[in-house]
Amino acid sequence: MVKDLLLNLLFIIGFCSFLPMFLEQKGIKVKKWLTILFFCIAIILCITFPIHLNDDFVFDLRSVPIFIGGLYGGPVPLLIYSLIAVGFRLLFGGDGSITTIMITLLNSMLILAVYKRFNLLAAKDKLKLVVVLGILSTIVVFVSPYILFGFTLQPDYWIGFGFTMILSLFILVYLIESLQEFSFLREQFIRSEKMEVVSQLAASISHEVRNPMTTIKGMLQMLRETPDLSADKKNQFITISLDELDRAEKIISDYLTYAKPTVQAAQIFDGHLEIERAINVIKPLANMNCIEIETDLIPFQLNANQEKFQQCMVNLTKNAVEAMPNGGKLTFQAIQVNDSLIEVKISDTGVGMGQDQMIRLGMPYYSTKGKNGTGLGLMLVYRIIESMGGTISVQSKLGKGSTFTIKLNSTTLTKEQEKNRTVN
Ligand code: ADP
Ligand code: MG
Repeated sequence: MVKDLLLNLLFIIGFCSFLPMFLEQKGIKVKKWLTILFFCIAIILCITFPIHLNDDFVFDLRSVPIFIGGLYGGPVPLLIYSLIAVGFRLLFGGDGSITTIMITLLNSMLILAVYKRFNLLAAKDKLKLVVVLGILSTIVVFVSPYILFGFTLQPDYWIGFGFTMILSLFILVYLIESLQEFSFLREQFIRSEKMEVVSQLAASISHEVRNPMTTIKGMLQMLRETPDLSADKKNQFITISLDELDRAEKIISDYLTYAKPTVQAAQIFDGHLEIERAINVIKPLANMNCIEIETDLIPFQLNANQEKFQQCMVNLTKNAVEAMPNGGKLTFQAIQVNDSLIEVKISDTGVGMGQDQMIRLGMPYYSTKGKNGTGLGLMLVYRIIESMGGTISVQSKLGKGSTFTIKLNSTTLTKEQEKNRTVN
């Protein structure tokens, strides 16, 4: 019996909680229909491998996925689960079919009565509510055969079933809530690291914007104070001023695009443009350090979270710039390795790293920059690249410089998608 029970629990936890979370972790967006499919599989497996309490009493935990799926998903998924449970059970025939219909109907009513409120509750209250629902559902399961066939079961079966049911519901809600909390915290973490970078870059940005402002101010003063300026000269001053304004505007707008948090899922975007945007964000800092930037990027597309990819590029570029306090050369290269693989190389001619340093790269809070570093940048880079299904490697020599190489799967757009993009 314990074996059967554990098997049922394994189906439920596996398909309703771990598998979706695992896929999300791998950067695969789990669509609603896929979640529904997973729950249906769990229901069918539970019915197929029931729990034998003794020779003549058999039960299963199919109501657990129905409850959880209905509570979190609402009426439409609930209807699908109920139909699957009843439909699949009808294949086996016997008196149990009618009982199943009645139980499923009553359970569904219970779920519909509370699902809206359930989703508004805090995790702790959800757990309490689900225990109450487990008790009510146990009563339903044992009263239904009595109403239909005058059939009663001994109290120890009631208790055994009720206990298992409530425990399973409790475990599942607990897992779902904890995993949600965990992924929420992780998102928060990524955001706060980004805010750290944003604030560190603020000084260089304002410096870079002040330069064009000084130029424009000078030009305007000249225009005011020299009335007999030739039309040609006037025109030249105005053109320079407008160019400088454009430059300042570009710096600010790229910085703000980077700083602005957005909530977005994976999408297809131009990787090379995203790298260029990251370079623009760091350029003011690079200018302050007299760093020359060289790019050689082939156009390529990625299917990933655009914001995170940019965060990655900014972090790597910022590190490279910081490795060259006395100037140097920063090179970006993107090459096509084969049909689906893109290689992005970011090289600097900076201080470089020794073996012992390279081993620790990507570990949280590892930084050689004292209070100017957080030691979180590379850890995030590693995580993001991994979640995109890519790899990252480092070559470095002390005093010579470092190269970070990222390999990513690129997507090729279908004709249809390409058309939509140009329309947009
Ligand atoms: P932080 O930049 O806040 O120190 P990171 O996680 O971005 O944290 O980097 C960790 C450490 O890795 C840095 O402190 C530095 O010692 C080393 N590092 C990263 N990139 C480079 C690079 N391009 N050249 C030399 N050292 C680097
Ligand atoms: Mg860093």
